[in-house]
Amino acid sequence: MLTAEIIAIGSELLTPEKTDTNSLWLTARLNEIGIDVKLKTIVGDDGARLEETVRDAMRRSDIVITTGGLGPTEDDITRVFTAKAVGRELVYHDDIEQHLRERFKAWGREMPEINKRQAYVIDGSEILPNPNGSAVGMFAEFDGKILAILPGPPRENQPMFNEHVLPKLKAVAGEVYVRRRLLRVSGKGESAVDEIAAPIYTAYPDVQTSILFNKSEVEIHVAATAEQPEQAQLIADELAEKLAEALGNAVFSAHGESMEEVVGKRLIELGQTVAVAESCTGGLIGSRFTDVPGSSAYFLEGAITYSNEAKTRALGVDPAIIAEHGAVSSECAEAMAKGMRDIAGTDHAISVTGIAGPDGGCDEKPVGTVFIGYSGPRGTKSVKIVLPGDRYLVRWRASQAALDYLRRQLGMA
Ligand code: AMP
Ligand code: MG
Repeated sequence: MLTAEIIAIGSELLTPEKTDTNSLWLTARLNEIGIDVKLKTIVGDDGARLEETVRDAMRRSDIVITTGGLGPTEDDITRVFTAKAVGRELVYHDDIEQHLRERFKAWGREMPEINKRQAYVIDGSEILPNPNGSAVGMFAEFDGKILAILPGPPRENQPMFNEHVLPKLKAVAGEVYVRRRLLRVSGKGESAVDEIAAPIYTAYPDVQTSILFNKSEVEIHVAATAEQPEQAQLIADELAEKLAEALGNAVFSAHGESMEEVVGKRLIELGQTVAVAESCTGGLIGSRFTDVPGSSAYFLEGAITYSNEAKTRALGVDPAIIAEHGAVSSECAEAMAKGMRDIAGTDHAISVTGIAGPDGGCDEKPVGTVFIGYSGPRGTKSVKIVLPGDRYLVRWRASQAALDYLRRQLGMA
């Protein structure tokens, strides 16, 4: 597999004001054609450091792509220092200057003399035209390594890359296809997932498998590479199925769908409806349900009952339950779910009541204590969980746990 690295050039990219998005976009394009991006660097407008970076990159990677620093001003240093790094001269191209003069004329302006700098190109490189800006790009092969030099603005470098660089890279990468699968797992930590998954995926050394934790779930990314797209898909599917089987019902999503999509799909299959009564999640579950297009087919109603009084008035929770057990209790969660189901007339209802923090915890019920209630055709029940994290994470994880609890009641576990 060919290796690539990307160098994003520009001091502004080192500040919080401007994010380097070019390298992310380029990495996605390169991965699609089976080229492995091993490293990316952001270099400020500093000639010596840029020269060193390009020289190191050309030594260790098959393909080096730079973006930015091709403007006409003093701080646009890419041409000069990339040429030094590869030990080549810059050569002046009269035709580029003429073309630039015509462009300026077409805008009704005189070309400033400093734009002449943009007519210099590294000796031995191919000129990549830029219909969307003044800086041309360059493409060259030096000592068997490929160097592509692209302008900074995405609307200039993306069409240039697609039209002039991608076909050349495809030709050198050969016919390599990457096919991916994404499994999502709930209710298990990263290391617990890896303990089960590692013995399976290590038997596929040519498949790249990564396990990442994401807010409230663990993601397993599988990327298989093969000379035929069908073969790559087959390998990715085979490994994904083995992992899904080993992890069982903890895998809630076999093709990367979100929890709310999975639950929604299941409700449509069953032709059933749901309502939700929320306290500490403050409408997050309703929001997630209704993020999914078509959710009106199954999501009928939600209530944010934050105060005790609201739980009683809107859901019919008996004040005696709250007085005896507290609003954060299994009894209250169950009464909320049952009340919601009765009022909405849905097949299912879920409820959440808990302590999101940072205040409000006690020894018996620390911050992160959450009760999830469920009421359905087979009765009403609840579960207690204690979630780690700050207020944001507790709320997010509570919404995930509630959706997952519902999923398990819908015969998906
Ligand atoms: P330059 O080619 O360095 O003159 O950059 C021109 C403009 O392109 C910058 O002001 C940015 O708006 C944009 N740009 C440069 N590099 C990047 C990058 N790595 N990611 C996103 N935008 C960029
Ligand atoms: Mg710049």
